Amino acid sequence: MYFPGKKMKALTFSYDDGVEQDRRLVELFNKNNLKCTFNLNSGLQSGASHWEYNGTAIRRMNVQGLKELYRGHEIAIHGLTHPRLEQQSTETILNEIVQDKINLERIFDCHIRGMAYPNGTYDDRVIKILKDLNIKYARTVECTEDFYIGQNLLELKPTCHHNSPKLMKLAEEFVNMKPTKPTIFYIWGHSYEFDVDNNWDMMERFCAFVSNRDDIYYGTNYQVLSVF
Ligand SMILES: [Zn+2]
Repeated sequence: MYFPGKKMKALTFSYDDGVEQDRRLVELFNKNNLKCTFNLNSGLQSGASHWEYNGTAIRRMNVQGLKELYRGHEIAIHGLTHPRLEQQSTETILNEIVQDKINLERIFDCHIRGMAYPNGTYDDRVIKILKDLNIKYARTVECTEDFYIGQNLLELKPTCHHNSPKLMKLAEEFVNMKPTKPTIFYIWGHSYEFDVDNNWDMMERFCAFVSNRDDIYYGTNYQVLSVF
């Protein structure tokens, strides 16, 4: 088992909610040849969907132009309207997942294979529906601070959030390691947090440091997880 090019290390990103700040993040990823999965709520994908977070205005993007914006990256389910799925009826869970998948496949003209749980929460009914839909992976918000993705891809635990104080330490460890089994550095977050926390420079340094290395495979979540 290895990633394309017989590599044993892979790096991937997962960003949620389809907000305006994704434009700057996509530009940063593209500049560094990095690949990301963007998790979208198709029922809320409109500039009319906005809120405030620590004094910063957050706004979702309109659907027009998104296919071009996200080209080369992956799109995944994040729930039609971002509810806490475990608090819903089974019919509503089904609607939130299936309808989001149908909408995203139509908008992006692709086959959707993954999900990030809205709010990171789920229950057995949610997992059963994902299995029935042949969804390969679903991301939680529980961080491992290591590079070993468990076998249970429907309860996928990322390495860390981009705001982890250990981010650069983990990056150095990952860049220097020579693993004999597939390892994944998996970072997640929301692009609006870079505006709220005023730390785009931190992400720019991280991306420059981890990118363009011969022994790391850079793929979307699905590309990277295809090894399992
Ligand atoms: Zn979200």
